[in-house]
Amino acid sequence: MKKETQIVSLGRDKKWTKGVINPPVFRASTVIFDTMEEMRFATKNRANGEMFYGRRGTPTHFAFQAAIAELEGGVGTALYPSGSAAISGALLSFLKAGDHLLMVDSAYEPTRDLCDKLLKGFGIDTTYYDPMIGADIATLIQPNTKVLFLESPGSITMEVQDVPTLSRIAHQHNMVVMLDNTWASPINSRPFDMGVDISIQAATKYIVGHSDVMLGTATANSLHWDQLRENSYLMGQCTSADDVYLASRGLRTLGVRMAQHEQNALKVANWLVSRPEVDHIRHPAFASCPGHAFFKRDFNASNGLFSFVLKQGNLKSVTALVENMEHFKMGFSWGGYESLILGVFGIDKLRTATHWDSSKPLIRLHIGLENPDDLIDDLARAFERFNQAQG
Ligand SMILES: *Cc1c(COP(=O)(O)O)cnc(C)c1O
Repeated sequence: MKKETQIVSLGRDKKWTKGVINPPVFRASTVIFDTMEEMRFATKNRANGEMFYGRRGTPTHFAFQAAIAELEGGVGTALYPSGSAAISGALLSFLKAGDHLLMVDSAYEPTRDLCDKLLKGFGIDTTYYDPMIGADIATLIQPNTKVLFLESPGSITMEVQDVPTLSRIAHQHNMVVMLDNTWASPINSRPFDMGVDISIQAATKYIVGHSDVMLGTATANSLHWDQLRENSYLMGQCTSADDVYLASRGLRTLGVRMAQHEQNALKVANWLVSRPEVDHIRHPAFASCPGHAFFKRDFNASNGLFSFVLKQGNLKSVTALVENMEHFKMGFSWGGYESLILGVFGIDKLRTATHWDSSKPLIRLHIGLENPDDLIDDLARAFERFNQAQG
């Protein structure tokens, strides 16, 4: 089955939908059994999609989990109340006191904070590594290194990692390989074919697609699914059926939305390349992005999220650029249908294994589903304000 067909078809088995098109919202804590035998059966099969108790999920959850697991290419998907919860849930399911973690230097900021604050306090040490380290990752592996965590492309600065090489070396040392795969979504890369053991999605972004739900997923291969599922269950992780319903609904249009986000973003990025104010574009589909060759090798397509670096600028001129936009709104997150703009300062403080030159300001854009010509006009006016403030 091709991806477009999978997006439409997966998770719509009649055992979950009862024949309607969208799996209905089953809100539940208690599930009632008529006999002791029924109760025993449900208890025995509570991890295999039998209704047992609300925290283990309902058909609304099972349908969505089945769809994501198959799209990502794993055997099972655990659900979490946010992407960040999926990241902490996966890490805490495989790390214990005395273990060592290798974390990519360009990780999503809250992931980094989790390592430096919570995991550190639990006696789990983190070493950050250069996203472009490749085979040299071997030099950082210690006898107690248990997990290699990747995020590709990296948050904000967009470095694309050599996932197959990193996974291969980690597996030579019996490590678990985890990937924050949010940028690719479940359709634009094949994490398990590249050696990843656990693929994580902030479903909050493109899967939900409408900026109105927080949700996370972690999908595991057969070797790691039981441990991920049971430890996440022990941590009490569960999600509302209403939120999962909206994510299921968002999933059905993921393919067409992603294709349009990509097309719009490429048009805007190509226009930005021609701007005299722009130093370079950090978009994986452009040669100026670190790891561009890995993007070409490992991804099917790009999307609406990328950054660009200005030749110069300061707080005043960047503020003039990002404020008073007509179509781009200022705000965190991305993956909805709307365009967003962020002037990002202090990246150097979030990098410890690599150097970031903060004298050149970085702007991150999420290109939505508006007509890109309107977005380009908006950005052209932004550059006028920038140049005026720059003096
Ligand atoms: C947003 C984001 C997350 C966290 O997801 P939330 O649902 O906001 O907790 C994790 N990783 C990446 C790459 C993200 O962009």
